Amino acid sequence: MRGYRLKSSDRIVVQPWRRWGLGVAAAALAGMCGLASLPSASAANTKAAAPLKVYISVDMEGIAGVVTGDQLIPGGFEYERFRRFMTDEAVAAVRGAQAAGATEVVVSDSHGNGESLLIELFPKDVRIVRSWPRHGEMMAGLDSSFAAALFVGYHASTTNPKGVRAHTISSAHFTRVGLNGTAITEAELNAAYAGALGVPVVFASGDDAAITEITARLGNMESVVTKKTLGFHSAETLTPAAAVEKIYQGALSAVAHRDQRKPYVVSTPVTLDISFKSYTAAEIVSYLRSVERTDAHSIRFVGRDMAEVMDFIVFLDYYSPEMAP
Ligand SMILES: [Zn+2]
Repeated sequence: MRGYRLKSSDRIVVQPWRRWGLGVAAAALAGMCGLASLPSASAANTKAAAPLKVYISVDMEGIAGVVTGDQLIPGGFEYERFRRFMTDEAVAAVRGAQAAGATEVVVSDSHGNGESLLIELFPKDVRIVRSWPRHGEMMAGLDSSFAAALFVGYHASTTNPKGVRAHTISSAHFTRVGLNGTAITEAELNAAYAGALGVPVVFASGDDAAITEITARLGNMESVVTKKTLGFHSAETLTPAAAVEKIYQGALSAVAHRDQRKPYVVSTPVTLDISFKSYTAAEIVSYLRSVERTDAHSIRFVGRDMAEVMDFIVFLDYYSPEMAP
């Protein structure tokens, strides 16, 4: 999700991309990625189909071409172009899902400030979850009425020695996130959250390290490798246009064959282990009687269910006494 973290004191500053005026950038980039050539769901298909709700969680580190903070962070010299590429990959997944019969699609803007996707470029019947904090975090808005979840632009975990910008939740603060005794990826955490609601994850895209890790933990599924990892800050990548085509086809096939995937369910109560980079974070969080300090840098929290565990993660990631308003 977040390969960086603003200091809480930075949050009230007007971010430069707002000052630049997004409309100008979006207009300048319009037509770059060839999405118009993709088929969209026909009106006849949409009207005839039974209700089919699909949830798409979109991160940015796994988008084709992303290799450094230059693409990931507002103010980076390529950020405005790459938020367009991220949007194009998300729209390709939406259109693939719709072509497979999805009648309702919710897209979660799950990277950085949660405000990267260019919402004006989505089909008008899509809804988009934006900004933080929020219950469910990268899966906010998901409920048991959805038939399938898709992950676009995902990355490897913080305990994986491979993977472009590999991290779990917060690269700035967490060195390990574990669920029921096993180190996890964001994809596994989010799949477990979806699984508790009975929703299977049917598709993932990201770099090769991410896809290897995700399928090892969640089982084989439709996936798209957008780039080959050469290092934390290097990859051999598909072009944006090639990634969009593959994601459209992958999402279409994944939603069409969603019945082949089962929800990923973890046993309850759920044990969450978090290791912090800093010593004092572990110390002060362990003042809570519901938290056990397991070593100098690590704490353990046991939640009744995935919803409680996700809320606790959001709390750890966001709380600061300087929060305002
Ligand atoms: Zn991210």
